[in-house]
Amino acid sequence: MIYYDVSMKITPDMQVYKNKDSKKPVFRVASDFDTSPAHETEVTMNLHTGTHMDFPLHMIKDGQTSSKLELNRLIREVKVFDMTHIKDAISKDDLVDLDICKNDFILFKTQNSYEDKFNFKFIYIDQSAALYLNQKEIRGVGVDALGVERDQENHMTHKLLFEKDIYIIEGLRLKEIKQGSYFMYALPIKMDHADALLLSVILVA
Ligand SMILES: [Zn+2]
Repeated sequence: MIYYDVSMKITPDMQVYKNKDSKKPVFRVASDFDTSPAHETEVTMNLHTGTHMDFPLHMIKDGQTSSKLELNRLIREVKVFDMTHIKDAISKDDLVDLDICKNDFILFKTQNSYEDKFNFKFIYIDQSAALYLNQKEIRGVGVDALGVERDQENHMTHKLLFEKDIYIIEGLRLKEIKQGSYFMYALPIKMDHADALLLSVILVA
């Protein structure tokens, strides 16, 4: 078996959404051996930085949070689709010929996986594709961008996915991953009332 870690590494200079300083992780040594018998580090970071899953509260007032998390939906078979030919956005036309079925969890590998700096023109899922996935009643979708959409009016991609309780994973790194089926362990840090949770995501082939 081969284990692929498809998570982003958390570092102070990692790529963050729109390069905003407020989204960059800040590491601070809280104590060291000069002052204390133990070395301890504090990290301050936005939960939408790095590999993470979004909950409806992210885009919907009073939406569901991490308090209602079903772990079994994150430890399961997934299908990876190679979408590296796409230049701007994944739309419905790009999906209709793919083997996407009800209850699938699908991951899209795009050019985003080859970029270590934030690209303001990252590949995203447009509204027509989100509606298609909504109608297909998939269970989850993962992307290799820090957003499942970018600057779409009313955030319809998020909303169409949340409407059918489709889990959204953002910030995957899929450069090493070929199209195909894998077993996924997407393991969140346990937290209540959050609009996102950091994930460590391992694919097994
Ligand atoms: Zn997010």
